[in-house]
Amino acid sequence: MRQGRLFVISGPSGAGKGTICDVLKKDPSFGLSVSMTTRAPREGEVEGVNYYFVSRREFKKMIAEDGFLEYAGIYRNFYGTPKKPVMEMLAGGKDVILEIEMQGAVNVKRSFPEAVLIFVLPPSLAVLRGRLAGRGTETEEQIALRTKTSLEEIGRLPEYDYFVFNDDLDDAVETVYAIVRGEGEANRVEGRADAIIQRFKEENDAFISGGR
Ligand code: ADP
Ligand code: 5GP
Repeated sequence: MRQGRLFVISGPSGAGKGTICDVLKKDPSFGLSVSMTTRAPREGEVEGVNYYFVSRREFKKMIAEDGFLEYAGIYRNFYGTPKKPVMEMLAGGKDVILEIEMQGAVNVKRSFPEAVLIFVLPPSLAVLRGRLAGRGTETEEQIALRTKTSLEEIGRLPEYDYFVFNDDLDDAVETVYAIVRGEGEANRVEGRADAIIQRFKEENDAFISGGR
């Protein structure tokens, strides 16, 4: 039987990785990984569906037992991908999609070089700011900081295999499917990263020199 493949979807906060993955998660041909976290459940979140909610002690035990494919500390909480279920799904021939933040994505590639890393990009920094504002979870100041962080994160594009511009959601999802089918040549990072990074830098410089 053919081994399944591991796809990692990551990118700056607000680029739309969660939105894209919400669509992909409805496709039964993909295996789903449920992450473990030390953060408290939000209203409506279900144990074993959204996350496994554990104490810091349980999380540390899992680290000591080498139970994670990757893990990362974000905003004083820990998040990790349990290794065993992912390995079992891959061995069973299922393709698996992980939606994780950027530290974790790069760590997956280190321990699992066959993983395919996909970077979700916003159409522009202006759109990213607008989406973060629209989500309504951050203050003006936090949005300005997030934009700056996003620019730094976009600088890590060369560590990824493919990029997906999330302008129209359906197009972005279709591009991910093309990559999964092995038809993602037009979205390979190799040879294109510098131009993409430069474009975002220029937009940011123009924004700053515009006095805002
Ligand atoms: P991330 O998971 O990368 O932090 P989200 O998926 O939460 O980002 O998306 C950030 C915001 O942008 C959300 O309010 C979401 O509804 C919106 N959004 C995501 N993708 C699109 C899109 N293609 N067009 C318009 N709005 C989008
Ligand atoms: P939230 O607290 O909003 O559910 O998630 C915060 C961030 O953690 C998101 O960027 C999400 O992609 C990321 N995340 C969720 N699960 C994991 C995981 O298992 N590993 C890593 N590295 N990041 C995760």
